[in-house]
Amino acid sequence: MANFDDRYPLDKWRDADHSVMGEFSLAGKKGFVTGAAGGIGRSAAAAWAEAGADVALVDLPAKLEQLESLAAEMSDKYGVNVVAIGCDVSDPNSVAELKTALVNRLGTVDIAFLNAGVCLMDDSIDIPFDKWQKTLDINLSGAFMTGQIAHQIMREHKHGGSLIFTSSTAGHTVLNMGGFPAPNMSYSVTKAGVTRYTQYLAAALAPYGIRSNAITPGYIWSGIFGDSVTEEEHDAMLQMVPERRFARNDELQGLLVFLASDASSYVTGTDTPIDGGLLVY
Ligand code: NAD
Repeated sequence: MANFDDRYPLDKWRDADHSVMGEFSLAGKKGFVTGAAGGIGRSAAAAWAEAGADVALVDLPAKLEQLESLAAEMSDKYGVNVVAIGCDVSDPNSVAELKTALVNRLGTVDIAFLNAGVCLMDDSIDIPFDKWQKTLDINLSGAFMTGQIAHQIMREHKHGGSLIFTSSTAGHTVLNMGGFPAPNMSYSVTKAGVTRYTQYLAAALAPYGIRSNAITPGYIWSGIFGDSVTEEEHDAMLQMVPERRFARNDELQGLLVFLASDASSYVTGTDTPIDGGLLVY
């Protein structure tokens, strides 16, 4: 009879150095967040910095000044190293430069939040090809390329890590708005692809100690909606949401720290809805 006691201790909580809360710490880890000038991205980066990680904020080169100011604010508040790097995630050359910059500025990458994305206007059945292509380039190829440099760095440096991708409820179902599909057709297609890419990587990267998970936000008041939504539109969007409200960006922070940390060491290939219940319908 095999003895599995060493492999699977039944009562690890009895160990003097065991602490479940300690497993949520990101102290000593290095990570990057794409789309870090946006609402969800900058809130995630702040959460990782508060949990002790050094973080690179990555967004379009045109937003570098904004990123630098955010990086200074987070470094001051949390006492970790936060740096700003400009990168267009849809451009292979820019992503190759990002890989070099990450190694130069942080040393390595243990955790990565591949989150940059767009949802363009008039994204419905008559969407012009160039708009369709742009959505694919940023949301799907961008996730592919930035995820690839992250796990390449982890494998080249011979350590494990955690990848987290941003999918969407629109990647799981056709969002119903007042009896019609929401105008986000190519967006939905790319997010469905992001979910499957996440799962593929979970299977392929497990032998390297690298986990791959996705989050599926529902309606998050991230700043992108700005002043463009009327009270009536706000209520119409929420008809399919049991919570009947948007989430705040900070309500995603706990899940993003969990998935990055050792507290989720057996979690891979998942796609967690954080959607106020939208996907129950
Ligand atoms: P946001 O617009 O505030 O942030 C998106 C960020 O991505 C922006 O800062 C933008 O500059 C950046 N970006 C766009 N194209 C880029 C490119 N080519 N290279 C680098 N960066 C680029 O919106 P958000 O809500 O914070 O979105 C973050 C992610 O969450 C996106 O992938 C989005 O699809 C997803 N999402 C958002 C919601 C929501 O309700 N807000 C719901 C589901 C999924």
